Amino acid sequence: MAGKKDLKIKKAKSCSKVIPAPNICEKHIFTENDYQEIQKELLKWYDKEQRTLPWRTIAKSYAVWVSEVMLQQTQVATVIPYFNKWIEKWPTVQALAEADVEEVLQTWAGLGYYSRGRRLHEGAKIIVEKMNGQIPNTVPDLTKLIPGIGAYSASAIASIAFQKPVGVVDGNVIRVLSRLRVIGASISESGVRDHLWELANKMVSKERPGDFNQALMELGATVCTPQNPNCAACPLNNYCRAYSMTKTIPKIGKMDSFLKKKSVENAADCKSEECKIPDIENVIGCTFCLPSPVWNDNPQVTAFPCKVEKKAARQEKVGVLVIEKGDQLLMVRRPEKGLLAGLWEFPCAILPDEATSKSKSSILESTVKELGVPSSVLSSKKFIGEVVHLFSHIHTTYSVEHLVLDSSLKIKSSKKEVMWITLEEIKTAAVSTAMKKVLALVKKSETKPAKQVANKKRKRSPENHKQTSIKSFFT
Ligand code: SF4
Repeated sequence: MAGKKDLKIKKAKSCSKVIPAPNICEKHIFTENDYQEIQKELLKWYDKEQRTLPWRTIAKSYAVWVSEVMLQQTQVATVIPYFNKWIEKWPTVQALAEADVEEVLQTWAGLGYYSRGRRLHEGAKIIVEKMNGQIPNTVPDLTKLIPGIGAYSASAIASIAFQKPVGVVDGNVIRVLSRLRVIGASISESGVRDHLWELANKMVSKERPGDFNQALMELGATVCTPQNPNCAACPLNNYCRAYSMTKTIPKIGKMDSFLKKKSVENAADCKSEECKIPDIENVIGCTFCLPSPVWNDNPQVTAFPCKVEKKAARQEKVGVLVIEKGDQLLMVRRPEKGLLAGLWEFPCAILPDEATSKSKSSILESTVKELGVPSSVLSSKKFIGEVVHLFSHIHTTYSVEHLVLDSSLKIKSSKKEVMWITLEEIKTAAVSTAMKKVLALVKKSETKPAKQVANKKRKRSPENHKQTSIKSFFT
């Protein structure tokens, strides 16, 4: 039977709902003095502790722009080698504008969210052709004139590259500000986001806006981390309400036994000094406060910001054919818009959820027909296995088949943009990570027979020789 307690726990996991024109209490805002102290402490910390990152050593608006676009939804450590390679290839916005889009996509391959690379290239062309090579220096111009630049990137570029006194709000800043000012409402609500932007804009140092914004983001990335914040070493711990709340209650892990001693079921019902939980909801109807049950459930700074339940990724099954002819593989260009726009892939087809082997075969038949390959050859395809790749919102399972065509086989013209490409060329082509995983699986499938060949010391027949081609790509 679902008792009262179960109901409480269920309620405890959900965050408060924000209504328009929020009625919020004072603890969610800073005083003028707080802003000044935070600026001073944070910049002092940043001057001492900042990481050396390649884009910080290049004082160019172009480098800031490239780094900010690369850092969207990608971690610093992943971005560094891509950034260095990019700047070496295209050191100026002019050089990028003249680049071939194919090369841009090749250079971006592996970094994910490929439309970002394409938009950088489009942006460079606009800047050179319409703005005399000058990157816009204000938030409105950046968002309006340059494709792929939203509110966060525009503020980051304007403050870091042009010293405009505007705040930034990214995932790290959301976390730090939510903890500093115990904001427990869901950040998916526009009222909360607007409030965080307002705090960030008021908090930013007018003298050193770029450094201040980088410091705030760096604090979130290195000290005020999602799971294990190091509050003891935090330069802002004196101004942090979440941290101070953790000191007014029993240490985590001791909460249950503490409440047991007090003979109460949860901290909200406890009248003792140590359980000043009502303090977190001290304005009736405040829409930004964390509900007491959520805090009781997790009475530590990590209760902030409120966890937003992510939409489950969509499941998708895709049949993929690795077609080999001579020393080349067949690849198809993806559409210019949408996921992995313009990248090359092995012939693929989305399979229905309940695909039978018959329906799968007929889908693959029409796929190869479209490419000018006679469907009769499918009878010799070999199932290799499955590869799973997680895009941000799609969980894709590739069902991989390998097909070796006779080199004399005639291929008709294709309805799609295709190319026959050698394994050596694939290394530098604009091919997604998912397709490289598919190729790796084909290679793995060949490793075993190769070993058997070595063990039995069999002579290399022309057939065996052909089968080593994919392997040699990886060795
Ligand atoms: S004291 Fe802790 S929770 Fe507060 S800002 Fe610093 S690291 Fe984050």
